[in-house]
Amino acid sequence: MPSDFDRQTSKHDADSSGVGTAGLGCPSEQRSTQEPNQRRRAFLATSLAAAAGLALWHLRARRVVEAVSAAASGPKEVTVVLFSDAGERLKKVTIEKVVKTDAEWRKQLDSNAFDITRRADTEIAFTGKYWNLHDKGIYRCICCDNALFDSATKFESGTGWPSFWQPIAKENVHQSADSSLGMDRIAVSCTECDAHLGHVFDDGPRPTGLRYCMNSASLRFVKRV
Ligand SMILES: [Zn+2]
Repeated sequence: MPSDFDRQTSKHDADSSGVGTAGLGCPSEQRSTQEPNQRRRAFLATSLAAAAGLALWHLRARRVVEAVSAAASGPKEVTVVLFSDAGERLKKVTIEKVVKTDAEWRKQLDSNAFDITRRADTEIAFTGKYWNLHDKGIYRCICCDNALFDSATKFESGTGWPSFWQPIAKENVHQSADSSLGMDRIAVSCTECDAHLGHVFDDGPRPTGLRYCMNSASLRFVKRV
C-alpha cells in the first residue's frame, strides 16, 4: 500500500544501513546513537503499515455490510414470498424485517457463518457443504429461514461455490453495488434479514444468463421429500 508509512520505512531502512547517510547530512556519531531508535521506529512504522493495511481490508469488506445496513435503517417492513419446504410458492407477505445485534447473531451462528453473513466475508472455494450437492430441495437463509433458491435452478459453475441462475423469488433477495477488494461486483443479500449471501454475475447459463454465486455458509438446505 503506497503511503507515508512506506516512505518512512524506506527512509529508516536506508538510515540504519548507512546508505545515503551523507546525502541526508547526518553526522556519523549521531547516526550510531540513533540507530536503535531508528530501527524501532522503522519496525513500528512497518507494524503500523501492516495494521493500516489490515484495517483497510476490513473497511472494504465492511462496505457491503454498511451499504446493506443503510438500507436496513430505511424500511422496517419488507415484502417477501413465502415457500413451503416442498418448494411450493405460498403467498407474498409484508413482514417486519429481522434485526438482531451482533451478539445475538454470534449466539445463533458459528463464526464462519457470522463472518460471511454479517461481515460480507467469502468462504474458500470447494470448502462449503453445498457446491457439489445435487439433491432436490430449497435453500433457505441460515439467519432467518427466508426461502432463497430452488435446486431446480442450481447448475455446475465449476467455481467451487453453489451457483444458481435465479433466486426462488426476486422479492426474497436484495442486490447492491459492491466495490470492495478492488472489484466492481453486485452483492446479493437476504431481503428479510440483510444476510450477505454472495454475488451475482452475468456469465451464467440460459435462460437468465445470470450466475448467483453463493456461500454455502449463508444457506440451509431443506431436502424435498
Ligand atoms: Zn435472512
